[in-house]
Amino acid sequence: MENKSVFEMILSGDIESDIIYEDNKIFAIHDINPVAKVHILIIPKKKIPTMNELTEDDTDLIGNMFICAKQLAKKFNIDQTGYRLLFNTNADAMQTVFHIHLHLIGGEKLKNI
Ligand code: AMP
Repeated sequence: MENKSVFEMILSGDIESDIIYEDNKIFAIHDINPVAKVHILIIPKKKIPTMNELTEDDTDLIGNMFICAKQLAKKFNIDQTGYRLLFNTNADAMQTVFHIHLHLIGGEKLKNI
């Protein structure tokens, strides 16, 4: 059987983490190594290793992840000051966890990319 991703281990309780949002398809946690004052990961419960494996069947799932991100941006009071949403994909983007996740980053002035 394929190894569980760190996010599946969080979901199953094998690794401790505060789940700050959860529904039947997605959940969200604070990043353990934040790059800004607010750094949240929005994660599908279904393991999709990289954005390259996305299919049209995942259209609603991805849409729901973005809706969740904007709601969390409001909840953490960064909706008006600003935030960045991104998916890293594979080596050049420094993806380290091969279970897609949407980074929600803000709470301070971010560097240009
Ligand atoms: P990426 O580099 O885009 O694959 O992002 C993976 C992110 O997962 C990194 O920002 C890590 O800091 C974060 N991360 C890894 N393990 C954990 C964990 N146990 N709890 C919360 N965030 C984690």
